[in-house]
Amino acid sequence: MELLKEKILKEGRVSGEEILKVDSFLNHQLDANLLYEIGAEFKRLFKEKKVTKILTIEASGIGIAAVAALHFNVPVVFAKKVASKNLDNETYKTEVYSFTKQKNYDVRVSKRYLNEQDHILILDDFLANGRAALGLMDLVEQAGAELAGVGIVIEKSFQEGGQVLRDKGVHLESLAKVNRFTDGHITFQA
Ligand code: 5GP
Repeated sequence: MELLKEKILKEGRVSGEEILKVDSFLNHQLDANLLYEIGAEFKRLFKEKKVTKILTIEASGIGIAAVAALHFNVPVVFAKKVASKNLDNETYKTEVYSFTKQKNYDVRVSKRYLNEQDHILILDDFLANGRAALGLMDLVEQAGAELAGVGIVIEKSFQEGGQVLRDKGVHLESLAKVNRFTDGHITFQA
């Protein structure tokens, strides 16, 4: 997606060898117009698929998923990282290893909001080693729902997540695929 790539080149900042910071439009401040175009692109890429719900993970996935949901005209469910008293007792739960925080945490979705009738599109901001996506896929499986596909805004091609998901036969669509950063430079995979 050219618009996204231009934005990444203009505003993305490389941190160390593996982290791309896009706080100015995706992870802290949000560019709502860009999110709208991202949602339209996901709709185009998954137009053949039946989707009844979009599933993401808090916090960064929520804005992306909510805007994309306008194009699909379906609800969004986000997996919660904190087990608060507000959450229903009946939940699907899975463990995810956080790439950015380097620790395991549980994520939960109330059983009320995922069921075997659902066709789920998973959306997230980044794909690194695939742990977040695999965790969300596990929740979909626990619910007996159908996985329609996984949509990612930025895939880091030099990490294994993309390969892992494609090897599982998942319909994966990434809007920008970035190569390993050399000297702080960002390049894209064709
Ligand atoms: P994975 O679970 O695929 O290893 O990592 C994906 C998750 O980690 C995403 O939900 C995202 O929040 C975070 N993440 C991974 N790599 C990056 C990165 O380079 N930049 C940012 N901002 N987040 C990342």
